[in-house]
Amino acid sequence: MTVGFVGLGHMGFPMARRLIEAGHAVVAFDAHAAALDRIVALGGDPASSPRDVADRAETVLASLPTPAAALEVTTGPVGLIKGARIRRYVDLSTVGSRTAAQIHELLAQRDIVAIDSPVSGGVRGAEKGALALMVSAPRTAFDEIKSLLQTLGRPLYVGDKPGSAQTMKLANNILAANVLAATAEVVVMGVKSGLDPAVMIDVLNAGSGATSASRDKFPRAILPRTFDYGFGTGLMVKDVQLYLEEAHALGVTADLAEAVGRLWEAAAQQLGPESDFTVVIKLFEAAAGVTVESADLRT
Ligand code: NAD
Repeated sequence: MTVGFVGLGHMGFPMARRLIEAGHAVVAFDAHAAALDRIVALGGDPASSPRDVADRAETVLASLPTPAAALEVTTGPVGLIKGARIRRYVDLSTVGSRTAAQIHELLAQRDIVAIDSPVSGGVRGAEKGALALMVSAPRTAFDEIKSLLQTLGRPLYVGDKPGSAQTMKLANNILAANVLAATAEVVVMGVKSGLDPAVMIDVLNAGSGATSASRDKFPRAILPRTFDYGFGTGLMVKDVQLYLEEAHALGVTADLAEAVGRLWEAAAQQLGPESDFTVVIKLFEAAAGVTVESADLRT
């Protein structure tokens, strides 16, 4: 099957590669030529714009950084909406329910079905085809696209209300934002008291303090101080802001999300939006005057 793919960054590239490896013809576009070249080198077919992709594929997937990028790609001057062949648009990005509903409405005017499918599982999940894909779409559209999505991971049907999968994704990500910051805070406290951080992580993982940060992010990117997990600090700020928008629109309290949001904004300001989000620990380290480094890794 011919599949379009727009946005070939940390997540989009490994997802598009899996589609090629599964035997699909992938018509690809990215605003950065180098990103497009990488997928063309693996057999992808380059397109000159989102519209060009949509002229050549009925099903177009996208993995874009921001709501503004998703709006531009779908409904901008050379957007997918102008393409002749496109019938369904699958958004793998995190854009929030408001933007998703807006895109859904605009594309519906051209009989293009918008399928929300934000993902969780990071770059490694994308490489292994082990993502959780949260899908909101008409049930029939989900059934049509399910086997394609299974190339990327596990599709989980959330409902048919446009944007509801985005709400689910933001609920997931605010928890991830909280537990990474909370785990960094307590590990820095322990190191200040003289504990070995690698021992702390082992103990947390054996006990009730285990989090996705202690299981995955600390061993992989923080304890070895590589800070290369593959998710940008600026994207975390965007996800927290989108969560807060949803919570405020619903009139529910979000005290924890607001507190952690201030922390992530400070991280983006001080360490840069392009930095890997695991660098957030450096804020706690600087305040405490310690570095989180295992005795084993120092020798
Ligand atoms: P990224 O910044 O690495 O990649 C985005 C890609 O989109 C880039 O290659 C960029 O050139 C391209 N792009 C931007 N604007 C464009 C435009 N107007 N037209 C065409 N291409 C354009 O981001 P990422 O980490 O791959 O994340 C993509 C989405 O997936 C985001 O919404 C993010 O929140 C979400 N997400 C990321 C992760 C992760 O671990 N990185 C995990 C889950 C979800």
